[in-house]
Amino acid sequence: MSELQVAPGRLLYGGEWHEAKSGRTFESVNPSTGKPITKVAGAGRDDVDAAVAAALKAFTEGAWPKMSGDDRAKCLWRLGDLLEQNKEEVARLETLDSGKPIRDTTNVDVPYAADCFRYFAGWANKIHGETIPVKGPFLNYTRREPVGVCAGIIPWNFPLLMATWKLAPALAAGNTMIVKPASQTPLSALKLGQLALEAGFPPGVVNVLTGSGGECGMALVRHPSVHKVAFTGSTEVGRTIMKESAETLKRVSLELGGKSPNIVFADANLDGAVRGALIGIFYNMGELCTAGSRLLVEESIHDALMDKLVAGAAKMQPGDPFDPKTRVGPLVSEEHMKTVLRYIDIGKSEARLAAGGERKGNQGYFVQPTVFDGVSNQMTIAREEIFGPVLAVITFKTPEDAVRIAADTPYGLAAGVWTRDVGKAHAVAARIPAGTVWVNTYNVFDQASPFGGYKQSGFGREMGRHAIELYTETKSVWVALD
Ligand code: NAP
Ligand code: MG
Repeated sequence: MSELQVAPGRLLYGGEWHEAKSGRTFESVNPSTGKPITKVAGAGRDDVDAAVAAALKAFTEGAWPKMSGDDRAKCLWRLGDLLEQNKEEVARLETLDSGKPIRDTTNVDVPYAADCFRYFAGWANKIHGETIPVKGPFLNYTRREPVGVCAGIIPWNFPLLMATWKLAPALAAGNTMIVKPASQTPLSALKLGQLALEAGFPPGVVNVLTGSGGECGMALVRHPSVHKVAFTGSTEVGRTIMKESAETLKRVSLELGGKSPNIVFADANLDGAVRGALIGIFYNMGELCTAGSRLLVEESIHDALMDKLVAGAAKMQPGDPFDPKTRVGPLVSEEHMKTVLRYIDIGKSEARLAAGGERKGNQGYFVQPTVFDGVSNQMTIAREEIFGPVLAVITFKTPEDAVRIAADTPYGLAAGVWTRDVGKAHAVAARIPAGTVWVNTYNVFDQASPFGGYKQSGFGREMGRHAIELYTETKSVWVALD
């Protein structure tokens, strides 16, 4: 840990590191061992007030929103470069704090974050309005202006990447932002803050507050000078944030939970579909909002698919996340592991256990990749988001059946469709109420492609052009011509 240069126990705002005013700290834990890593500051309302004041000053008086898009782009690009230059350290920090395998933090989280800053650097000088032909002797045009002070409230499953998805477009559009990482995984956001200072963002533009959701998060949501909240996390907390934002009519975007259907038709490439099913549910320990947690299988191929699926699941045993060969690490915390094991017990009473079903070892929070067969869509394990390595296999007879079951959930984040019939693939993709549909693949993302939910999976689209819309207001300007 000694070589990991984070600023433990402190908060970043106004371009400087500060102790929490109350002097409070809390520990971040390594989920592979259950041991504490370091202490971080526990921000309270006073700290939120100070950070918001700094972010507001940077927005109203500072250079950032007035700076040319070219100059903002340079800062964003430099931050992307710094992430890449510090890739190994940032990846190790993320693995230590979250339990995500080092092969993923090294090959996915950090490089995708660097790419995301560079992609939005490209947008910074391409944000503009339109001229609109109107009646009468007027020139009418629109301007796209930054919203103001934004708060990004971040979950623990992709700590660096989720902070980046919010920061990069918000900064490109000229906003200032306060990032609040999840209490389980605060370290990579602190590192990102440190790199942002190095990249030359003016003071108050990038701020990082560690602290509890109930206190620090809620104070950000309620603060009258925070103009927008961008949240990724549970549907339950999303609901609270929406209610609390109503008081000050903040702009809100919510990326929430899911219970995504991954549909395998009988005419699919079976090996590809099984690989997709395994990645769909076991990638990132199933701690993935898009987890393909309901595998909908056409009845006629059920037995053949199950054989391959169970064999594949057995090979995805969790292990030391620092071993470069490990593909599945521990769950993020003891509390979360207990929740997942509780769902596994419910599954054992509702359906047939086909693979896994137990904790692995007694040190760290490792859970076996688990598959339940004979699941009906009304069972608890098919309805509630488990957010762990637990797959529910449900059979169907016709495409209509598949679409009906797929849509029968309060969520609508993502879906997968596996078939060789191109017409069927597009028809089913069009009918599923979900923000993302993958055909013959699963869990692919790109910073250019919009991502977000239907129904109770939230609203607003991150990434791509859509993210710029999320972080700008449209102003209509009228000029008399006579
Ligand atoms: P969570 O409890 O909703 O927490 C997410 C963030 O919100 C954390 O930073 C948390 O802080 C903060 N928070 C908690 N209560 C708050 C409150 N009352 N006011 C303001 N902020 C508050 O979710 P989680 O357990 O970290 O993450 C798992 C969930 O996130 C899953 O349900 C998953 O589906 C969802 N998720 C969705 C997406 C997506 O893109 N749609 C992506 C990832 C995860 P503390 O950590 O201090 O409590
Ligand atoms: Mg931790």
